[in-house]
Amino acid sequence: MKLKISGDKLTFASAHMLTRHDKCARLHGHNYDVEVEVEGKIDENNMLIDFGIFKTAVGKIVKKFDHRILIPDFNKDLKITTTDKQVIVDTCEGRYYRFPREDVILLPLKATTVELLAKYFHSLIKKQYPQFKITITMAETPTSVVTYTE
Ligand SMILES: [Zn+2]
Repeated sequence: MKLKISGDKLTFASAHMLTRHDKCARLHGHNYDVEVEVEGKIDENNMLIDFGIFKTAVGKIVKKFDHRILIPDFNKDLKITTTDKQVIVDTCEGRYYRFPREDVILLPLKATTVELLAKYFHSLIKKQYPQFKITITMAETPTSVVTYTE
């Protein structure tokens, strides 16, 4: 049996940049949509999983990214300096950004492409729900969509 959740609880707006990319090396943002499909067995309550509980749990993960600047901590093209109050990012293209610490999410990723973000969301959700096969569909724009499944 499969079940799918999507909607307002699973949307977020974030800023990011992609190094060594003509257009996307500049700081810019997207309104992301996340859709999560789980596959598994129906339980003793005749459900795969409670829709409300699952939406709330996934929403908590997704909304942490809302109105934040996403910085890929494992990107060797970025020199990232973190202090208590600031994150300073020096890019290989000579761009220099200084952000309030609380506005930034440092991700254990090489890039904040929608592909790697979808894989990252998959790992976060899988940690909480290891019993299911999980598929993440993530849209950076309505016409730019990726799907990641294990
Ligand atoms: Zn982008």
